[in-house]
Amino acid sequence: MIAVHDLPALRALARRLKVPEVELRRVEKRLFKHRMPVDEVLAALPPATRTVWRNEVDWAPLELVSRQDSAVDGASKLAFQARDGAVIESVLLRFHTGRSSVCVSTQVGCAADCAFCATGRLGLKRNLTTAEILDQVLQAARLFHAEGRTLRNLVFMGMGEPLHNEVAVRDAVEALRDPERFNFTERHIVVSTVGVPAAMVRFAERFPGVNLALSLHSARDEVRRRLVPTTKRHSLTELRAAAAAVTARQRRPLMIEYLLFDGVTDTAADLAALQAFVAGIPVHLNLIPFNPVAGTEPLGLRGTPPERREAFGAALKRAGLKVTLRRSLGADIDGACGQLARRVGPAAPDND
Ligand code: SF4
Repeated sequence: MIAVHDLPALRALARRLKVPEVELRRVEKRLFKHRMPVDEVLAALPPATRTVWRNEVDWAPLELVSRQDSAVDGASKLAFQARDGAVIESVLLRFHTGRSSVCVSTQVGCAADCAFCATGRLGLKRNLTTAEILDQVLQAARLFHAEGRTLRNLVFMGMGEPLHNEVAVRDAVEALRDPERFNFTERHIVVSTVGVPAAMVRFAERFPGVNLALSLHSARDEVRRRLVPTTKRHSLTELRAAAAAVTARQRRPLMIEYLLFDGVTDTAADLAALQAFVAGIPVHLNLIPFNPVAGTEPLGLRGTPPERREAFGAALKRAGLKVTLRRSLGADIDGACGQLARRVGPAAPDND
C-alpha cells in the first residue's frame, strides 16, 4: 500500500490512472493543507478511480480508539490503535493564548527506561513507521480544525525516544516541513531527546531550523544514570559536546528540560552541576514539575515543592540563564509529561 505522505508514489499512481496533475494537487491540498476527512479528500478525484485510490493508498494507518478530555485544562489524550493492535497515545494541548499543539509518539513503548516514566515501564515493543507518526498529526489537525482551531505546533515528546527511531522521525520531519505537504514552520516543531549524542548532531546538521530539546534532568553522572538508564552509554561530557555542536549548527539556544525531584535533582550540588554543564552553551532551561507515575514509588521520587522550584529557578536566573518554570497540562488524564501509557497500552501495568 502507498503511504499517504509518499508524494512520488501518489504521483505515479495518478499517472497510471490518468488522473490529471491538477486533480492530484487538489487531493494533496485537501489532505495536507486543509486536513479534510478522507471521504472529502477522495471526492476531489474522478469517481471511476476512487475505489483504486481507496484500496491502494493507506489513508489512515491508525484508528482513534479512545479520547479523554481534561476537566481542568485544555488537554485531550488520544489513544490510537495500529494495524498490528499496538496502542499508542498522542496529546492535544490547547493553551489560553489560543495556541494549539500536539505531542506525538514515535515508538510503541520505549527502551530508555527512565525511572520517572510510565512508557519506560513498558519496554520497547517496536518503532512507529513514518506514516504512523504523521497520521497522529493529521488526525490531531482534523480534530482541532473541527473546533475552529489551527494546529501550528508539534512536539515529539510522547511515547518513545525519537532518536532511537531516527530514520522514521527524520522522514516525518521532512514531510512536516515540506511546503507541498504539511507545511509546518520549522521553529514550531520540537524533537525532544534524552540525549543520543551522535544522532543529535546529525539531526541538527540536517534540520538546523527545527528545535531540539534535551531532557537532561540531572547534570550529575551518577544521578542521571539512575534517572535515565539508557544514558549509561554516554557520559555527560560527551553529551555536553553534542549540545555545544547542536547550538553551533542551529545558532540559537538549545532547550533543556529539567525535572525537579525533591532531594534528587534540586540540591545545591545539582544547581552547581547544572550551571557547569550549560556554561558557555546558549540554552533555555525548562524546569518541569514531576507528575507522579504508578510504578515509580519504590524509587522514592517526589516532585520538588512549588516554593523550592521557584527558588531553584530564581538562582539560575540570577546566574544569567534563561529559565521557564513550565506548567504541565493534562495531569488529570495521565497525559502530562512521563505519564503516557499509564492506562492504555499493550503491556500497561495498570491497564484498564
Ligand atoms: S521519558 Fe521519554 S525517553 Fe524516557 S522512557 Fe519515557 S518515553 Fe522513553
